[in-house]
Amino acid sequence: MRVMIVEDDPISRHLLETFLGELGYEIISTCDGLEAWEVMQGSEAPSLVISDWMMPAMDGVELCERIRRMDKPDYTYFILLTAKGDKKDVIKGLESGADDFIIKPFDRGELKFRVKIGERIINLEHRITQLANTDFLTGALNRRAFMARMEEEISRSIRKHKEFSLILTDIDHFKKVNDTHGHQVGDLVLQKFSTELSENMRPYDFVGRYGGEEFIACLPDTNMEQAGLTAERMRLNVESIQCSFQDNTSLPVQITASFGVASFKPTSDESLDSIIKRADDALYMAKSEGRNRVCAYHNVSSITKNPPESSNEQAG
Ligand SMILES: [Mg+2]
Repeated sequence: MRVMIVEDDPISRHLLETFLGELGYEIISTCDGLEAWEVMQGSEAPSLVISDWMMPAMDGVELCERIRRMDKPDYTYFILLTAKGDKKDVIKGLESGADDFIIKPFDRGELKFRVKIGERIINLEHRITQLANTDFLTGALNRRAFMARMEEEISRSIRKHKEFSLILTDIDHFKKVNDTHGHQVGDLVLQKFSTELSENMRPYDFVGRYGGEEFIACLPDTNMEQAGLTAERMRLNVESIQCSFQDNTSLPVQITASFGVASFKPTSDESLDSIIKRADDALYMAKSEGRNRVCAYHNVSSITKNPPESSNEQAG
């Protein structure tokens, strides 16, 4: 866990650095609230802050108030460290939004356990966030979490002037799998499908379950052509998925999927709904051209070479 120390007194700061370093925390050390505030706005922002109260430039109470006003997805646990020991000072410190209060000079044992309490709360918060954002069956992001990540990705793309791409995919004739083999097999197919998509993605790509058997992947810093190649690789790998039955009495279930690809240019002011709509149009084209293929939005053209024969079976 990353811990930030905010302390203007060099001796006290050094003591904290040494002690918390020995406990195995990753330490960021700052000399006043203003410096700490800058760290909080960067990508290296810590989960836990131990801050002195009285400091030049910006004091601990103001730092805490500013952190509480931030629109930050993760909680920041804040421990105020001070020589002020009056009841009304404690109350003022806690009113600023601090989670805990330690009086200087600090006792090592007390500090250690108070930091442990903070760590426990942060871990619980991470666990709850993860549960709230994840599709229970497949482990992909749920739709709400995916859309929230997408809004961040659009801002990032504009800021960094980098294109990104979306792949919207749907298992072909999935209803037939459920009708023929039952929902348990259907669930297994969904899990394998989701895993196969993830295995064709890079660590910073992300995938969400968009609807029943429909999944959506976001590929940052990726143009349409590159995304088309990824989707084509996914399509080929999905074809080779085999969902076997425990008793081996039936043949393994085999599936195919259709893919629609769309890209977002950082120069456009397109909304998220509109980008997804384009991916959906491409997916629709892949379905109507006979399924088990990849279509890209630019001219809604087929990417899959020698696409399989068209079929006019039921929708899905
Ligand atoms: Mg001080």
